[in-house]
Amino acid sequence: MLDTALVTYFRAPHSFTGEDVVEFSCHGSPVLLRRVIACALDQDARVAKPGEFTLRALTNGRLNLSQAEAIRDLIDAQTEAGARQAARQMQGELSAFLQPMKDRLLSIIVLLESALEFVEDDLPAVAIVRVQTDLTALEREVGALAATFRSGRLVRDGIKVALAGRPNVGKSSLFNRLLSSDRAIVTDIPGTTRDSLSEFVNIHGVPVYLTDTAGLRTSGDVVEQLGVERTRQAMADAELVIVVLDGSAPLTAEDESVLADAAAGATPFIIAMNKSDVPGFNCSLDNARGSLAVSALTGDGLDQLRQSVIDAIGFRDTDAAGLLITTARHFDLLQRTAASLGQSRGLLDQRASEELTLVGLHNALRFLGEITGETTSDEILGQIFATFCIGK
Ligand code: GDP
Repeated sequence: MLDTALVTYFRAPHSFTGEDVVEFSCHGSPVLLRRVIACALDQDARVAKPGEFTLRALTNGRLNLSQAEAIRDLIDAQTEAGARQAARQMQGELSAFLQPMKDRLLSIIVLLESALEFVEDDLPAVAIVRVQTDLTALEREVGALAATFRSGRLVRDGIKVALAGRPNVGKSSLFNRLLSSDRAIVTDIPGTTRDSLSEFVNIHGVPVYLTDTAGLRTSGDVVEQLGVERTRQAMADAELVIVVLDGSAPLTAEDESVLADAAAGATPFIIAMNKSDVPGFNCSLDNARGSLAVSALTGDGLDQLRQSVIDAIGFRDTDAAGLLITTARHFDLLQRTAASLGQSRGLLDQRASEELTLVGLHNALRFLGEITGETTSDEILGQIFATFCIGK
């Protein structure tokens, strides 16, 4: 005997995949689960491939491709906002949103096809104008949906933000404050944060992968030197850098060199003037460089800092309320749809033949279909499902 387990039989088609399914719910120790799996394999079962159950559900028409992708995104979601978007997509909101667009496109195609078929009936001018108007509207709507990817990408994948500054300005303290935990080690001995620490922190629904870097300081100590190199790496990898300065003391040459490094890099940066709680604190910087007064000790200015991060990455909170495009695949297909629609509209404007105009329209319809999987090739499906976990 291995375990006493609950075994559930789902009779087809009343299962997730639509097939006959038997599920074993065991007491979850990895050792036990491995033995149960070994027993099943002895009985000629085989281990599922990544995403195989979801692929079967797709093949059996239980869900469409964008819903299947949403399952993966829901499992990987880092914040509530990310989970909410994935749940909406899982319920078929994206496909429901796209369906009327596909219908409208299809009716334009049918109209042009029939003009082709009956050569003697050239499309009357009014019909052409209507098709032009419809195409323009469609192109605009597809473009607007694609544009939500700017925020959608942030909600799903998040952003890498690095804290940089010379030792002792309070980077680790700020890191902990933003994390509301004591993940990083804080001491008053300069150069104690030798390695880079990274944690996810939720800022307005965006998963921010925050890295507390070792102080940017030229050092003779080999270990610290390594840390300094990692800092440069973290700054280069980040999509946004928060330069931390100590406003309770005059700027040092080291501070200036951190600022110069940040200004020389391609990564956008914001400046946080820390220790605003200290009497005599001075937030102003020369050369009209904007900075934000914060105190890692009291938490003052932290809300503004979070808001600056969100502003700097171009995330709009209001977007998060609507349906967002969250995957690069969907974004790419929507852009291609809009481009094809634009081409066809251009041809129509030039009164090109219906045959030519139709090429772009058929392409656009195929691209929209690829989002929900109706026209997705097996090769692409294979690539998508390879990104799933095993057992899903
Ligand atoms: P790091 O080397 O830049 O990571 O700096 P730490 O976070 O280790 O902080 C260095 C010292 O500054 C510690 O003694 C902290 O307690 C202190 N410190 C950090 N932030 C503040 C702050 O906002 N106000 C005050 N008064 N002290 C701070």
